[in-house]
Amino acid sequence: MRLTRRELRSVQRRVGVRADGVLGARTRKALRRFQQRKRLAKTGVPNVETLRALDLPFVARVEAELRAAQVDGSGSRFPLQGGWTFGGAGTGFGTRGGAHEGIDLLADCGVPVVAVSSGTVKRVANHEKAGNYVVVTGTSTRTDQVYSHLQERPALRAGDRLQAGAPIGRVGDTGNATACLLHFELWTAPGWYEGGVPRDPRPDLEAWAAG
Ligand SMILES: [Zn+2]
Repeated sequence: MRLTRRELRSVQRRVGVRADGVLGARTRKALRRFQQRKRLAKTGVPNVETLRALDLPFVARVEAELRAAQVDGSGSRFPLQGGWTFGGAGTGFGTRGGAHEGIDLLADCGVPVVAVSSGTVKRVANHEKAGNYVVVTGTSTRTDQVYSHLQERPALRAGDRLQAGAPIGRVGDTGNATACLLHFELWTAPGWYEGGVPRDPRPDLEAWAAG
């Protein structure tokens, strides 16, 4: 999902910041304040729940786009090749006051992690919190997939093309993981920290698990 500059300006006017059409630090802060007031997940991004609470006319279009942005079903699959369970409280999407932008899948360290769809590697890095992580942009949907806390730094490079099911790495507990787990995120186009928004991957994961 992507808001036009004009739509973003309407959002900015509603939350009382300068309507410049750019989702900068001030707008994010104002959005978090608004979200707190409305008891929404404090994401700092204008997600559907926030647009609804702001009562803006383009919510319907955004909702339709989000539905269309579901990861392409053709050949897509579950990201773990081994036993797994959903985590308990605080591991779902939007928990921890909105700070949790993905979902935790508990599995033994070492379980293979595979690409959920075909795509192109966008980033391979290590982060204090995420540990070893990979971002992949899905080929048909442009949805970004984030795979975090991997055991080792994957032997992948930005620009690598992956087929659905291609090896990403192995489940680990790097970064701030409190157990062996895969933290998985899905971001709408144009993607991870590029103007897309994270959305709950649980419906996709459940569909792939039922596969
Ligand atoms: Zn997590």
